[in-house]
Amino acid sequence: MAGIYFHFPFCRQACHYCNFHFSTQLKHQQTMLKAFEKEISLRNDEIPQRLESIYFGGGSPSLLSPRAIENLLNIVMRDSLHNDKIEITIEVNPDDVSDAYLNQLKSIGVNRISIGIQSFFDHELRMMNRIHSAAQAINAIERTAHYFDNFSIDLIYGVPGSNSTTWKNNLNRALSFDPPHLSSYALTVEPKTVLAHLVKIKQLDLLDEEWVKSQYDWMVDRMEEAGLENYEFSNYSKPGFQSINNSNYWEGKAYIGIGPAAHSFDGYRKRSWNIANNQKYMKSLEQGILPSQHEKLKEHEAFNEYIMTGLRTAKGVSLEKVHQSFGNHYVTYLEQQVENHLIPQRLYWDGDALKVSKGAKFLSDGIASDLFILKD
Ligand code: SF4
Repeated sequence: MAGIYFHFPFCRQACHYCNFHFSTQLKHQQTMLKAFEKEISLRNDEIPQRLESIYFGGGSPSLLSPRAIENLLNIVMRDSLHNDKIEITIEVNPDDVSDAYLNQLKSIGVNRISIGIQSFFDHELRMMNRIHSAAQAINAIERTAHYFDNFSIDLIYGVPGSNSTTWKNNLNRALSFDPPHLSSYALTVEPKTVLAHLVKIKQLDLLDEEWVKSQYDWMVDRMEEAGLENYEFSNYSKPGFQSINNSNYWEGKAYIGIGPAAHSFDGYRKRSWNIANNQKYMKSLEQGILPSQHEKLKEHEAFNEYIMTGLRTAKGVSLEKVHQSFGNHYVTYLEQQVENHLIPQRLYWDGDALKVSKGAKFLSDGIASDLFILKD
C-alpha cells in the first residue's frame, strides 16, 4: 500500500482555469470532516497498518485547522506513527500561510508543504483569478523554507499574456528560494471554466503550442542547470526530494482516496472513485453508504496506462515490469512497435528501460499513444 489521499473540496475563490472538484460554500466544512471520518470507518479494512504517504489535496486543504488535520492523521496513522520515513504533505495557498500555521503543521507531523504559487506577477495572478498576490507568494515561500526542509513550489506556464521574459523571471524567482522540489504545469483550457468562456468570446488569446513547448524546453534545461532532475514530465527535484506520494502513483502502487471526487486504486486493476458532489457525498455517508463506483481495467488498458505514465517519468517503461505485469507477448509487442513505428530521435533504450529523449519530452503523451494497444 502506498498511501492515502484526502480531497478537501472547498476553496475561498474559484480560479478561472480550474476544473478540479471544489465548492466555495465554506459553511459545509465541518459536516464534510464528519463525512470523511465516516468514509474512513466504512473503509477500515482497506487502510493498511503502515502507510508510505498521506497527502492533503483539494480544493484548498490549507483551509483546514491543524487540529482537524491532526484528527484525520490520528485516525489513519496506526503503525505509521512509528514510521519515520512516512511523507505527510499538505497543499497550501499562499494567503493561508503564517508562522503560527506552519509551526502547528510541523508539530502535528506534517513534513512536506506544496505551495500553490503559480506566478510571481500580480497581473498573471489576477488573470487566473488566484486569491493571493505576488507579495503573499514570496512571503509564503520564505516562511515555509524557514520551517520545512521539504517543500515544493507550483508554477503555471503558458499563461495568456506571458512571454519568454515573464516566464523566465517566474522560474528564476522560484529557483532563487533554492526549492528542493518544483512542479510546473501548462495552463490548459478545460470545459466549463471561466477561462474557456473568455477564450470563446475572444477576450483572451491562448499562446500557441509551439510557444508553450519552447517555454517547457527552456524550463527543462534551466532546472537541470539548477540541480533539479526532471523526474516526471511536470516535476523536478533535488536528489532525495522526489514526492513519495506522486512517485507511488506513477509506479502504479495502491492508494486510497477519501472525499468527494477522490479516486482509489488497488495496485492491480481495480479503480474506484467517489461521487463529485459535496451534498450527495455527505448525505450518502450520513446514511452509511459509500458514494463510490468502480471499474476493472482490462489488461490492455492497464498496459496503456503504464506506457503513458512510464514515458512521463525519468525511470521510463521497464521491460521487466511489462514482462511481470502483462507477460512476454506484451514485451514482444512493445519492442516491435518501437522498432517499426517511431522516429528514433524521440525514444531510446537505457538498459531495459524505454525512455523519451530530452528534446521530445513535451510530446511524451503523443508518443505514448503511438504505443497503445487499441481494442474494443
Ligand atoms: S485554489 Fe486550487 S482547487 Fe481551488 S479553485 Fe484554485 S486551482 Fe482550483
